[in-house]
Amino acid sequence: MKNPTYHRKGFGLKDVVEGDLKRAYESDLIAELKEGGNTLTRNGITVRLAEAFGFCWGVDRAVSMAYETRRHFPDRKIWITNEIIHNPLVNSHLRDMEIDFLPLREDGTKDLERVNEGDVVILPAFGASVEEMHFLEDRKCEVVDTTCPWVSRVWTRVQKFAQSDFTAIIHGKHSHEETVATSSRAEVYLIVQNLQEAEWVAQYILNGGSKDEFLSRFRQACSQGFDPERDLERIGIANQTTMLKGETELIGKLFERTMMSKYGPSNLNDHFLSPGDTICDATQERQDAMLGLIEEPMDLMLIIGGFNSSNTGHLHEIALKKGLPSYHIDSPSCILSAQEIRHKPQHGDNCEIATNWLPEAPCVIGVSAGASTPNQVVAEIIELVFSLRQ
Ligand code: SF4
Repeated sequence: MKNPTYHRKGFGLKDVVEGDLKRAYESDLIAELKEGGNTLTRNGITVRLAEAFGFCWGVDRAVSMAYETRRHFPDRKIWITNEIIHNPLVNSHLRDMEIDFLPLREDGTKDLERVNEGDVVILPAFGASVEEMHFLEDRKCEVVDTTCPWVSRVWTRVQKFAQSDFTAIIHGKHSHEETVATSSRAEVYLIVQNLQEAEWVAQYILNGGSKDEFLSRFRQACSQGFDPERDLERIGIANQTTMLKGETELIGKLFERTMMSKYGPSNLNDHFLSPGDTICDATQERQDAMLGLIEEPMDLMLIIGGFNSSNTGHLHEIALKKGLPSYHIDSPSCILSAQEIRHKPQHGDNCEIATNWLPEAPCVIGVSAGASTPNQVVAEIIELVFSLRQ
């Protein structure tokens, strides 16, 4: 018998954990920067901070709920099914509070068997798959569900597609936890990572092609039994909430044109459902702030956030498209010296060391951070950069 207990609103302990959260994640330097119009100069280095950066509402809420959970269940075994957010500092603080991450098996899947009846399990801000939730229900756990409402909004959308026999085309990364959770709610889905992949699919819809090639290309990015000839006749667009908004819009328009061209304008509604507005506000604000920041003269950009953080990767992409020298780093430990910095290139899974990265003073360095980066991490990095030219 399924007997889940879900907690979706915290435990009324927000005021109790507020002090802990401020001490762990806030920073006086960031307050000083904001008072100075997001600009601060020391030792010949001017730092310009993006207008919107760092912790978003959904992350703030998820981290606060995790802290409340520990207070509410001081003696219980507590698990998180995944990193609560993509930030190493936050995740290490949770480990210190004896909130354990479910280990991975050799094949890379989560070892849910470690969870015992009565354990408390926290679901991260980007949600969990239907299969995981069913498993936890069967185990009779207490589930603290921190899924961001922006993410559940997309779930509602793909569930509606399924009810109307539409295939969900999801703009996202097939291995990202949020997209895994979203696709588990769609009966039939195809995940496209970018406009280029979407164009390939659009050509297939219009002109046909090799089914084997299609299935080989999207083998990790479509539902079981996907048939491109049958399953691309009625499509609805959804997205991972942290993708580049402009790209999601272009993909939506591309498929709208494609279906109109194939089935005629009067039949469009039977074959196409638009993406709606499902890029979250926080992602949008950070992307807009980044677009504003890169219009100012600048020698270098530092983009701070977890290496597996999708929204941070997109901020990096904006800087690179502008042609700015820029580095995606996740913590102060990436700054090895004034000569060397460890960073993650946009394309590539492994970090690299770049040399001679810091311009001579006077110079201007732009700084932004993904939605899962605490102010304290941003501040430590800025302090460290200032100290390199003392
Ligand atoms: S980035 Fe957006 S969708 Fe993700 S947790 Fe923050 S507010 Fe929610």
